[in-house]
Amino acid sequence: MSIPEPPPFPSDLYGGRLTIDLEALAANWTELNGKVDSRTECAAAIKADAYGLGQERAGQALFEAGCRTFFVAVATEAIALRAQLPQAVIYVLNGLFPGTEDHFVRHHIRPVLGSFCELRDWAHICKAAGQNLPAAVHVDTGIHRLGLSPAEFSAAMADSDLLGPFVPSLVMSHLACGSVPAHPMNRRQLDLFREITAPFPQIPRSLANSAGILMGSDFHFDLVRPGIALYGGQAIDTQANTMRPVARVEARIMLVRDVPEGDTIGYGARQTATRPLRNAVVSAGYADGMLRRASSSDERPGGFAMIGGYRAPILGCISMDMITLDVTDVPQELLQRGALVEMLGPNVAASDLAAYAETIDYEYLTSLGRRFERVYAPLT
Ligand SMILES: *Cc1c(COP(=O)(O)O)cnc(C)c1O
Repeated sequence: MSIPEPPPFPSDLYGGRLTIDLEALAANWTELNGKVDSRTECAAAIKADAYGLGQERAGQALFEAGCRTFFVAVATEAIALRAQLPQAVIYVLNGLFPGTEDHFVRHHIRPVLGSFCELRDWAHICKAAGQNLPAAVHVDTGIHRLGLSPAEFSAAMADSDLLGPFVPSLVMSHLACGSVPAHPMNRRQLDLFREITAPFPQIPRSLANSAGILMGSDFHFDLVRPGIALYGGQAIDTQANTMRPVARVEARIMLVRDVPEGDTIGYGARQTATRPLRNAVVSAGYADGMLRRASSSDERPGGFAMIGGYRAPILGCISMDMITLDVTDVPQELLQRGALVEMLGPNVAASDLAAYAETIDYEYLTSLGRRFERVYAPLT
């Protein structure tokens, strides 16, 4: 693996540090690849800048681990990835925007086609090129976002104007409730996917995201598309997370102060000190992706940070550029001015924080700001 470039500024100047462990990312891919049959290909979803962790580095690490097929959301992401990985197969989940087919052809990028209009556009360019240009077809089995309805899919497959000029390289669908394996929707989508794809055994099939991989081989088909589990996230709500953490966010202590009992902390005076408190102010806020919904108040506890094995609850409102932490019970020697405290990482799971912020770890990762120092290093 290549050596990380030095950051553009001295480390001490940054309010915080985002450490990304590419070996853990590669190990997570290898682990997921090991969960599927050798006839099933393990791809990777690296949309949204590899879930906020850096598409370029993540793409390289995954390719070196053996991954050959990548899913991004939009063509701009795909073109950047193509420049870096000339050998990879790259699918664009959000499909073809009007008039953009040429770019897909030029960069050897495969759209995931999810409507008649897109099929028509692709058929047209295949005819013009006189080539069977690879593209996936997305069938909707119940999520009702992108994808042809089952009836539309059957009609399209029978229409030689639409699916004559090219043969789909993949037919895929997406699970709506994978994070809850017992949800009846999973079985319903699986059965429907099997039924509608059965007449076309020659076309490779894909249904599973991370959760689908963990739900077992029924969901695997020919190709799986993990995202969140690669990045150390929690794919299934009710199972212990066995993936290695990939990201750590640390924020710098600016000062530690006393708050007398009865005084309030932060904007809106929403939290009152119920005893004399010590309060550490750290240099990271919602502008850095520390979601404001995880703020604390007298009515509702907020998230927390970890300082050398001690839990430091968030006090009051999360500000744009800073957070106040309750360090009353943290030993003084761990609270040096300038020290870094863990806001998210091996000891503060994004999925745990997400529960306080009424969201999911996906949102934490993809919200991480660009203001931190970025370091690619092992998270030991
Ligand atoms: C994002 C995405 C994935 C990956 O999902 P995870 O839950 O992150 O594993 C797979 N397929 C599609 C269509 C997606 O949009």
